[in-house]
Amino acid sequence: MAEKRDYYEVLGIQKGASEDEIKKAYRKMAMKYHPDKNPGDKEAEEKFKEANEAYAVLSDPDKKNKYDRFGHAGVDPNAGFGGGAGAGAGFGGFGGFEDIFDMFGGGFGGFGGRSARRNGPRKGNDLQKSITIEFTEAIFGCRKEIKLTKEVKCKTCNGEGTAPGTHKHTCEKCGGTGQVSSVSQTPFGTFQNVTTCNACGGTGQVIDKPCPDCHGKGSVRKTVTLKIDIPAGVDSDSIIPIRGEGEPGVNGGPSGDLYIVINVKPHKIYKRRGDDLYLTMPISYDQAVLGDKVKVPGFNETYSYTLAPGTQTGSNFRLKGKGVKNPRTGRYGDLYVKVNIEVPTKLSAKEKKAIKNMAETFSEDSYPRKKEFSKLKFDK
Ligand code: ZN
Repeated sequence: MAEKRDYYEVLGIQKGASEDEIKKAYRKMAMKYHPDKNPGDKEAEEKFKEANEAYAVLSDPDKKNKYDRFGHAGVDPNAGFGGGAGAGAGFGGFGGFEDIFDMFGGGFGGFGGRSARRNGPRKGNDLQKSITIEFTEAIFGCRKEIKLTKEVKCKTCNGEGTAPGTHKHTCEKCGGTGQVSSVSQTPFGTFQNVTTCNACGGTGQVIDKPCPDCHGKGSVRKTVTLKIDIPAGVDSDSIIPIRGEGEPGVNGGPSGDLYIVINVKPHKIYKRRGDDLYLTMPISYDQAVLGDKVKVPGFNETYSYTLAPGTQTGSNFRLKGKGVKNPRTGRYGDLYVKVNIEVPTKLSAKEKKAIKNMAETFSEDSYPRKKEFSKLKFDK
């Protein structure tokens, strides 16, 4: 399969475009490439599908967020996050699809919104699991073992739900459609009712002898252990999709996916905002006055920085590229260091004397702002 194009590029918009801009761009594309306007044009059809897919993701705040963080890996157009069971493959599964009907003020023939066959193959449920990791683990990436209790395919019957040596057969009552229709005559006319077949429960298949282990369900509840590779640079609320680790599919459909939601513990000293790191560093008065070479403790390394003479308390400096690696772009954030003059609180007699001597050496003019401040007066 060809490399997937960026969804923003597909719609010809910039990242960060507003909801309205996304909608407008999509409408333009959909109008241009709509199959009714381009009969038999394969390329237009592809473009139309591509635009639909891009819009389905970018118009859904949750999916958009995941796409912005992880690109195509974060969103699977064939699965609705958190509840994939009902979302079959193809157009029927797109969350934003109804919007298209709204936009054009009517249906397009041909694309059947939500009429996926109930008893056809369906993707298994997606699962979500939260894990908490250390601050440094988030920065460097890590491998974690998680335990997960979920439905897994029954080994005894290989997911068939039938006792060994037996097989399902097509439901005779509904002929395998899972639905029965009845016609009722009323004073207002003839009505056709379509209901779920009660002989097979809508599956279209009947099990004569259920599997002794799963009782016909095809899956059993089990606790499994998974090793998860967490990429460097993840942050709280990052989501790592693990394909195929959700619950088993139905009627031969693919397994759902597992979404690992990351929670990062705070650090004692460091703070993080996006890919940037923040640190407050205590320095002494003489270092602030005279300037000094200081060492900034980083992760797995130490950075040198030269404080300029006359550095004020509360001022910041930036160490470019010493932040966190962005897992999507591979670019590094910056490290911002704020300096704070630490004032000694426990002084020996000798130290007190030294400070007094220093104070006497300085004149009022050494502290111009303090001098000015001392003259302030606020009259009524
Ligand atoms: Zn079984």
